[in-house]
Amino acid sequence: MKITVDNNGLNVPNIVDIPYVVGDGIGPDITRATKKVVDEAIKIAYGSKRKINWIELMAGEKAISKYNTPLPDDTVKKMTEYRISLKGPLTTPVGGGFRSINVTLRQIMDLYANVRPVKYYPGLPSPLKNPEKVDMVVFRENTEDVYMGIEFPSNSKEAEQVIELISKLGYNIRKGSGIGIKPISKFGTSRISKMAIDYALLNGRKSVTIMHKGNIMKYTEGAFKEWAYEAAKGYGDKVVTETDLAGKSVQGKIVIKDRIADNMFQQILLRPDEYDIILCPNLNGDYISDALAAQIGGIGVAPSGNMGDNYAVFEAVHGSAPKYANLDVADPSSLLLSAVMLLRYIKWNDPADLIEKAFVNTLRDKQVPQDLARHLGVKSLKTSEFAESIVQHMVQK
Ligand code: NAP
Repeated sequence: MKITVDNNGLNVPNIVDIPYVVGDGIGPDITRATKKVVDEAIKIAYGSKRKINWIELMAGEKAISKYNTPLPDDTVKKMTEYRISLKGPLTTPVGGGFRSINVTLRQIMDLYANVRPVKYYPGLPSPLKNPEKVDMVVFRENTEDVYMGIEFPSNSKEAEQVIELISKLGYNIRKGSGIGIKPISKFGTSRISKMAIDYALLNGRKSVTIMHKGNIMKYTEGAFKEWAYEAAKGYGDKVVTETDLAGKSVQGKIVIKDRIADNMFQQILLRPDEYDIILCPNLNGDYISDALAAQIGGIGVAPSGNMGDNYAVFEAVHGSAPKYANLDVADPSSLLLSAVMLLRYIKWNDPADLIEKAFVNTLRDKQVPQDLARHLGVKSLKTSEFAESIVQHMVQK
């Protein structure tokens, strides 16, 4: 049965239809492993009372060979209709005027937040001395900023027109410059700020840090900061700003603070335990989330979700790694932990907890795929063996 929505949010039936896209390259291997672990976890947690009825949708190379498009209309229609889905990595088609799959889905489903939890699990390789201090969630605005792709090439008619218009406003742009536009709106900023603060409240988090470059880009990044603080004001005494705290500590309220983007990069390395939810415009989010992923084992284990209001697509952070396609060697952790996010999104927390605990114990026993094994200097497991090992750890609890 399909997920529906009412005034209280999502209604998730006990036997729930969830669409998934296998993906290209390593997609089939990691999707198979992920579904196996998720299905077992649900069975252990709920017996036959609850179940995911997986519905395969076509996208990527499979769809190109069948329908001559990487994203058939039916796939978009069903992902929207069923609201929540899981997506394997897709190879970006070279040439040929194809629409970008991620951009299309983001626009149609209005998935305005890219949410990336970055948490260290003991046993993962990390360049930090105390990686256990890393436990953050990045909320990256998904629809504005330079990501909108409004760009005009050097010497184009459009670039020349913009240069002429700007000169009338009193600014001199060098002739022949390429032009990029960076729009950031109050509407876009307010809604992602609310999503981040709601998440912080719901999950007992301590702080939300607005990451911006407002000292230089006052009316885009600076405005993002101001509008985010303004959105926070709507939460009354559930939140407090760092300035109002004036060095005192507080329990049970979300502390709202801001940091300039370049400083944020040293903060996550030097004082990671002082940061929790990171709220940022698109480009800052792009940079900081990969830098954070590197601190906790790399993109092979970093999960993500693209979220709107009651719509979400969960996907691995990495790409299709074609050189490992169908070799049963890829690391399924990123997609698996994205599926854990999906389970938490539909409030099936018991199987999500089971998977996370078994994942930690599997790492503890150094039963890992090759990307982690080579850093840890241990013998590697195949993708399928790693999934089986996680299942065994769940059974043993
Ligand atoms: P990639 O697929 O992420 O792979 C780059 C390297 O990262 C691999 O060669 C491998 O490193 C490592 N890696 C990534 N995921 C891994 C996993 N699960 N297990 C083990 N190792 C993993 O990036 P890419 O080669 O630049 O991109 C390949 C294709 O994917 C491109 O067409 C790109 O456009 C697309 N892509 C899609 C998405 C998406 O669908 N969301 C995201 C990014 C890229 P080693 O070689 O060091 O072992």
